[in-house]
Amino acid sequence: MKNLFTCLLAALGLTTSCSGQNVESVDHEGFAELIGKADVVLLDVRTAEEFNAGHIAGALNIDQSRADFVDAVVAQVPMDKTIAVYCRSGRRSSSAATRLMPRGYKCVNLSGGIIAWQQAGRAVTTHEVDVFTTPGGKTVKFYALMHASIRIEFDGKEIEIDPVTKLGERTIDYAAMPKADYLLVTHEHADHFDREAIAVLSGEKTRFVTNARCAELHGAGEVMANGDTLRLADDIMVVAVPAYNTTDGHLQFHPRGRDNGYVLTLDGLRIYIAGDTEDIPEMATLGAIDIAFLPCNQPYTMTPDQLLRAARMVKPRVLFPYHYSSTDVTAVPAALRPDSIDVRIRHYE
Ligand code: ZN
Ligand code: ZN
Repeated sequence: MKNLFTCLLAALGLTTSCSGQNVESVDHEGFAELIGKADVVLLDVRTAEEFNAGHIAGALNIDQSRADFVDAVVAQVPMDKTIAVYCRSGRRSSSAATRLMPRGYKCVNLSGGIIAWQQAGRAVTTHEVDVFTTPGGKTVKFYALMHASIRIEFDGKEIEIDPVTKLGERTIDYAAMPKADYLLVTHEHADHFDREAIAVLSGEKTRFVTNARCAELHGAGEVMANGDTLRLADDIMVVAVPAYNTTDGHLQFHPRGRDNGYVLTLDGLRIYIAGDTEDIPEMATLGAIDIAFLPCNQPYTMTPDQLLRAARMVKPRVLFPYHYSSTDVTAVPAALRPDSIDVRIRHYE
């Protein structure tokens, strides 16, 4: 009788579930408090288009209308996490929660969705942000711009990796961002080296660090070859590391010795940005890496299997697959769970 009653209410839109399990909903205040906790994953179930137009910082985006929605969540979110879920108005997220709860997840829905969140004056961002703390207690934020373009905000400094203005249909508005303190470019390909973005991001103090080819093409830049080390500030150190192809027929894309990957150390936090490379043996010699960015697309960089091998060599605490274009990387988080690597898929396609 109770279930029948609940279903009738659900049909009238008055409650959210007829599975027998009601979805817990909280207002923006309760939701903000919840998403700051370590065992909570923030999930936006709207379309990628809605997500890119503005979302709550740090959210994972999995569209609830996907046929494999539940499986995609299971592949990316460990079962012991609480899922803080939201959509535009709270309806789709509530329905998504009723589908996730039978799998064992605890779900909490944002009542009124992102509309209510924004009406309450709370912030949204147009790019995904992941926040880390350095061993010295400073904050590092990674903004997933696109493909190989990463914006890093570290203790008031702006670091841009391979900034690119336009790729296919996607564009990034660098004019809306602060000027870069440090601009790091890995190599000359158009999905990494873009004069327009460099011009827009460059101010009086900007230091442009790159390989010999890009410095030559650009007519400026501090050149780093594989193996070179450069101290940019007391708490910012960069090492250029090899990035190249090893598969027959692909060697011409990134010949050995020409292009750079970077190991960036920010106040003791070690970040590996691999550049365009395959799973090369040098990856096993980088030392302890906290955060790694590894590429995954064919024929230019790695296959998903190579990405797994590379991840097991680098052993980062957190892995961001990037530069993945249309490659399906959704199975990577589950595949690397036994290796205790926290894989976060962001919009780096
Ligand atoms: Zn390339
Ligand atoms: Zn590339």
